[in-house]
Amino acid sequence: MPNPAQRVNKLFVQTFGTQADAIYLAPGRVNIIGDHTDYNEGFVLPTAINFHTFIAVKRREDNQFRAVSAAFPGDVKQWTFGEEGSAPQFLEWADYLKGFSAAMAMSGLTPKGIDLAIVSNVPLGAGLSSSAALEIAFGTAVNDASQIKLSPLAIAQLAQRGENHYVGAAGGIMDQMISALGQQDHALLIDCLDLDCEAVSIPENLSLIMIDSSVERDHAEQEYALRREQCAQVAQYFQLDSLRHLALADLNAAKNDLSDAGYRRAKHVITENRRTQNAAWALESGNIAQLSQLMADSHISMRDDFEVSVPEIDFLVEIIANVIGDKGGVRMTGAGLGGYIVALVDHSLTDAVVEAVEQQYTQKTGLEATIYLCSATDGARQFTK
Ligand code: ADP
Ligand code: MG
Repeated sequence: MPNPAQRVNKLFVQTFGTQADAIYLAPGRVNIIGDHTDYNEGFVLPTAINFHTFIAVKRREDNQFRAVSAAFPGDVKQWTFGEEGSAPQFLEWADYLKGFSAAMAMSGLTPKGIDLAIVSNVPLGAGLSSSAALEIAFGTAVNDASQIKLSPLAIAQLAQRGENHYVGAAGGIMDQMISALGQQDHALLIDCLDLDCEAVSIPENLSLIMIDSSVERDHAEQEYALRREQCAQVAQYFQLDSLRHLALADLNAAKNDLSDAGYRRAKHVITENRRTQNAAWALESGNIAQLSQLMADSHISMRDDFEVSVPEIDFLVEIIANVIGDKGGVRMTGAGLGGYIVALVDHSLTDAVVEAVEQQYTQKTGLEATIYLCSATDGARQFTK
């Protein structure tokens, strides 16, 4: 089986009848801890994972873009820079690219066009952020082809703007930042208030495991919007821009004036920010027992206070927690109501974790879990070998 770099070169030649100038790649991601904190201007601790979107590129002298993706064979898209219009009601895959170019146009940037072919092994729409991997690989390629010299952070900001304003997906900046700025064997502690970030080394003895519960994320979008609204209402009550600077003592003092849901959503966010910072310190200092406790507490907070877990996910977490004890951490990850769990476990326990999930999950839930053994990788870059 040819590797993705060979496949993307081949797709480029087949589509455009000439060789590409260069290949760029950007990773998907998983968030270790810090969920529903990004849009509350808090802390997140994601890592880039070894699933990548590859883009083969040839610079053009005009302002046209032509794109093809192996995920949508034969569907060559073309548009003129600055004339992206608005996204259609039913999104097409190239709208993620157009969103980026529209964001560049809004920022007064004037890149040259490119022809590009895309091959990815980030599963699409599965919660590993294939959309950010696509946007960031594209942004990195356009940036280099036109020698605009945007920083990785600036590329992430353009990608987020494109996804928010063009694609119409209301997400924070975590996915784009980690895909642009990830570091091998590290997680990134991102402060979503000022976009400061700090690389946190992942102890060598830990394996990164992600498991897709295969629970359909029905109603997840409405529930996400509702949670955002509930958080915003509590911030408004305290006359704050976000929950970032709300102290737990102040929240508790106002408990009787707030709705029960509002109180618990805010409690999750405040405590999750603290857990996320503490988890970064625990990782950095190799204190796995503390990491284990923080991830367990985070899961409980997501389940009971933010109310975004489901029984199947709780069960997956329980299966793994029973195997690893305090030799690793496990929790649900992402927006919730289905999706993934993430675990960081001592290497010696990886096989036992996989075995326990295979033996117990399907039997109890009737669902099939997909297990990904990952590693933390670098962010977007040119592919050189
Ligand atoms: P996620 O980011 O969790 O994978 P999203 O729904 O945010 O899920 O983004 C998935 C969408 O992004 C796909 O439906 C497709 O439109 C676009 N996309 C992602 N990767 C690719 C790719 N390799 N080729 C074409 N489109 C892609
Ligand atoms: Mg996405």
